[in-house]
Formats: sequence, structure tokens, C-alpha cells
Amino acid sequence: MTDAVLDLRGVTFRRNGTEILHGVDLTVRAGERWAMLGPNGAGKSTVLGFCGAVAHPTSGTVDVLGHRLGRVELQALRRRIGHVNPRHPLRSDLTVTQVVLTGITGTTDLPPRWQPTEVQVATAHGLLHDVGMTARRDAAWPVLSQGERGRALIARALVAEPDLVLLDEPTTGLDVAAREQFLETLDDLAVRRPELTTVLVTHHLEELPPSTTHVVVLAHGAVVAAGPVDEVLTTETVTEAFEHPIEVAHERGRWTARAMRRAAMQA
Ligand code: ADP
Ligand code: MG
Repeated sequence: MTDAVLDLRGVTFRRNGTEILHGVDLTVRAGERWAMLGPNGAGKSTVLGFCGAVAHPTSGTVDVLGHRLGRVELQALRRRIGHVNPRHPLRSDLTVTQVVLTGITGTTDLPPRWQPTEVQVATAHGLLHDVGMTARRDAAWPVLSQGERGRALIARALVAEPDLVLLDEPTTGLDVAAREQFLETLDDLAVRRPELTTVLVTHHLEELPPSTTHVVVLAHGAVVAAGPVDEVLTTETVTEAFEHPIEVAHERGRWTARAMRRAAMQA
């Protein structure tokens, strides 16, 4: 499949004698905006690590941006991937603009003697503007709120003009206003960069941006369902994955999950 940005075939992963993933298949094409859903411990971050060329599977094949993991230098591949990791260090002596520039160097700190070009600084400022952070661009990283950090990390993920953006539970710890701003930023991105492919990991249906096109649901290290959002995000699939009766509703572009009373189910 030549237009596949991500192609996972029969992917297994073993750690300390335990199989964590049991044959995961997943194909993501250019311009698709996926959400990866599933309970805690389902294997979402592990799968995202393969998508981000962070680790190799135990068996099976992973193709990222047309390159097979195991045959390509991971570092080179990673430069084409923006990875929004909410566990980005909170302590840093850098300003917001400098943190965004570390997306170019692919590091947490700015390497000694590395100097951004004027064009690179302008690009960083432009992206900070896009995520509504112009007023904060010279602020020290530790003084930002969580919501501001999340938006700055999107700018960081985009500064090297990646072909693929991965977001692992980016809304963790955000209050409701910050979460909504964050989702708006993702929707704006979908409009401004329609060719960009994104994979967003969450375990909250309420956190799916309206621009989501596809969903993969994981449980116990296996894919429960994958495909277009309207086909996959159903009461049946979510109930199966979370092993709890959950009613899925879709209204004005947003999804909600509500626990169903067992008595009501049996009626
Ligand atoms: P999720 O992101 O869906 O919560 P993870 O991918 O982080 O799930 O983890 C899936 C399972 O694999 C969990 O049970 C976790 O404890 C286990 N796991 C993940 N990484 C490792 C590792 N490096 N060593 C041992 N167990 C791991
Ligand atoms: Mg995780």
C-alpha cells in the first residue's frame, strides 16, 4: 500500500516474558486523523511508540512513512514525526519559543552552540501565533499553565514540518476550557494542513476533536475495531472494549459516553 503513512502487520510485543500486544494490524493513510481509544493498559502508548519509530516490535512488521522499522535509521525517521508527549519535562530553563525550536533539534534542551536561523525563529513564532500563544512566546517554560504547555507542544511538534503527528493523551490534566482550546487547535490544524496525518490517543470519547476521521479501539493488546469513526464508535464496540455497558452518543460533532444501568440493558 503505497499511500499508507502507517502500516502495522501482525505486530506483537513482549516484555519480561509477557506478551503486551498480540498481533496488531493497522493501516493509516495520508490526511487521515485517527483517534486511538481503549482502557488503561490496553497497549495504546506501546502502539504509538512503534508509530513514532521509538521502538521495534517483537514480531510482525511496521512501516512508517514508507520505511520498514528495522531497515531504516530510527533517528532519521523520527525527524519527520511530531510527537506530542504530555510528559515533556516541566522544568526547563528555556523560553516558550526555545522549547518550540527544540522540535527542530529533536532534543529536550537546545544543543550547545546550536543557533536557530532567522527563518527558523520566524517559523516558531508563526506556529505559536497559530496556537494562540503569541503573548506568551518569551515566557519561561515553567510558568506556563498546562493548557498553554499543551498548545506550545503542538507548535513544537509542527516546527520541523512533519508528515505525521502523534499525540499521546495530550489533554491529561487540562481543565475544561483548556481542553476545548486544545481541541479547537487540532481542528484548526486539520483545516490548515489537510494533508497532515495525525493519531491522537485518549481514553475519553469527550476528547475526540470533531475533525476525527477514523478510530482504532484497543483492549488487552488487541484491536477490537478500526475504521471510519461513524462505523467504529458504537455502543457495542465501546462496551466490548471497556467491558462495561457504555452508551455512545454523537451530537453536534462531539461524542459522549454514558454508563448504562444494567437493569435498563436487560429491559
Ligand atoms: P496504555 O497506553 O493503553 O495505557 P501501554 O501501552 O502503556 O497501555 O501498556 C500496555 C501494557 O503493557 C500495560 O499492562 C503495561 O503495564 C505494559 N507495559 C508497557 N510497557 C512496558 C515495558 N516496557 N515493560 C513491561 N511492561 C510494559
Ligand atoms: Mg498510555
